[in-house]
Amino acid sequence: MAGTGIFTEILDGEVYKYYSDGEWRTSSSGKSVAIVNPATRKTQYKVQACTQEEVNKVMEMAKSAQKSWAKTPLWKRAELLHKAAAILKDNKAPIAESLVKEIAKPAKDSVTEVVRSGDLISYCAEEGVRILGEGKFLLSDSFPGNERTKYCLTSKIPLGVVLAIPPFNYPVNLAVSKIAPALIAGNSLVLKPPTQGAVSCLHMVHCFHLAGFPKGLISCITGKGSEIGDFLTMHPAVNCISFTGGDTGISISKKAGMIPLQMELGGKDACIVLEDADLDLVASNIIKGGFSYSGQRCTAVKVVLVMESVADELVEKVKAKVAKLTVGPPEENCDITAVVSESSANFIEGLVMDAKEKGATFCQEYKREGNLIWPLLLDNVRPDMRIAWEEPFGPVLPVLRISSVEEGINHCNASNFGLQGCVFTKDINKAMLISDAMETGTVQINSAPARGPDHFPFQGLKDSGIGSQGVTNSINLMTKVKTTVINLPTPSYSMG
Ligand code: NAP
Repeated sequence: MAGTGIFTEILDGEVYKYYSDGEWRTSSSGKSVAIVNPATRKTQYKVQACTQEEVNKVMEMAKSAQKSWAKTPLWKRAELLHKAAAILKDNKAPIAESLVKEIAKPAKDSVTEVVRSGDLISYCAEEGVRILGEGKFLLSDSFPGNERTKYCLTSKIPLGVVLAIPPFNYPVNLAVSKIAPALIAGNSLVLKPPTQGAVSCLHMVHCFHLAGFPKGLISCITGKGSEIGDFLTMHPAVNCISFTGGDTGISISKKAGMIPLQMELGGKDACIVLEDADLDLVASNIIKGGFSYSGQRCTAVKVVLVMESVADELVEKVKAKVAKLTVGPPEENCDITAVVSESSANFIEGLVMDAKEKGATFCQEYKREGNLIWPLLLDNVRPDMRIAWEEPFGPVLPVLRISSVEEGINHCNASNFGLQGCVFTKDINKAMLISDAMETGTVQINSAPARGPDHFPFQGLKDSGIGSQGVTNSINLMTKVKTTVINLPTPSYSMG
């Protein structure tokens, strides 16, 4: 059970504590923020509404703890990360339970998220000891006009304090994908979890606490992003921001100081289907890609662009599979569960109604109860409909019929997003040409877009992001290159 057993100390009455200077604390604000269960629409949990003074304190601690952490041998940092990963995996049940209750993620997927997060921490520790243990050695005589009088040694050094802000949909996984690279690289870490997902994150942070990381190195500040967010992101002590979420990331990028930013933002991932595609494979991938976790995934298939000649057949196959999706409570592992909030459900409904007014074909009846929206495939969507361009983040999927591959590529490239895309064809040569033409960070050939496995590079173009994730890229982004040059009085050549 969440908040019990080894997690008892993170709870104060009915409000979860925040984590600062190695201890679980109650905010001096005396205020809490309610976390509403998306399925029941009742308050499930409460977390502290931290104050600006508490943020200042955390930043001060983070700065000072980082100095000694940077002097901790790499193998010791890795050892602690492995320990935290093991504790996290051992305690997957209560963490998964909070994911079910605060973001309505199906129970099985919630467990998968926690286990995947443990694996990501361990992988990061292993990768860190390899890549951070290596540097470069350069000789001056390769540049014109120079003799071999300078030996240049490069190594990677930490940035300082990393601020991590994950979104609600994978709060644990997208938190550790920032925490683990930051720590292995010698940084300290301040986490601001999403409000929906905060309790799962607090449990996860407690696993790091139990692993024995030094005081102040990791902190977790809770509160509404709209209230505490600007103060955190513009804080002078922050040396790097790693953010995953929606348009908020664009405004953070404009306000942040001269620090490295890792931004993983929204997407409108297109699925381009050619005439020669295996339509059964496409249909299965559209279901998995478009409707897993009720479409609330950055890499969900968000628009299908299918060649007119095979569109009828594909739509029939997808319709048959949509009919088999189960709809209901996350506790029962239903495929489609309530979307995260009422405002999100209202937004999705707005897109659906706009498409209805403009003449889209509804392949199923539109049905909504509270935050629960039944899966809906919209055929004959045209570019003048909002749903052709906007990210619903829900279980509704538009199909646009195209008469040429170029039309599909043009639609994909006209989007302000450029996260991922996919193309289905049996012709690998065509697939490569289309992949090269698509302005997205990744193109999947014959499979739905996906973020994992977690060590693959993951990045968005245009409004979908800045920088690249994936274990190695995140570690590199959270470091700087430092060089030391040895100057010799006379040229010295190794003679062989
Ligand atoms: P969001 O509304 O942008 O929130 C993301 C995070 O930002 C939350 O922790 C939120 O805290 C915080 N926040 C809100 N206002 C802030 C501010 N002014 N300053 C700093 N932080 C602030 O996104 P979401 O609804 O959680 O997630 C859905 C979006 O994330 C979608 O657009 C999806 O495509 C995107 N996403 C992208 C990726 C990717 O890797 N590209 C992965 C997953 C999701 P509160 O919860 O307290 O408001």
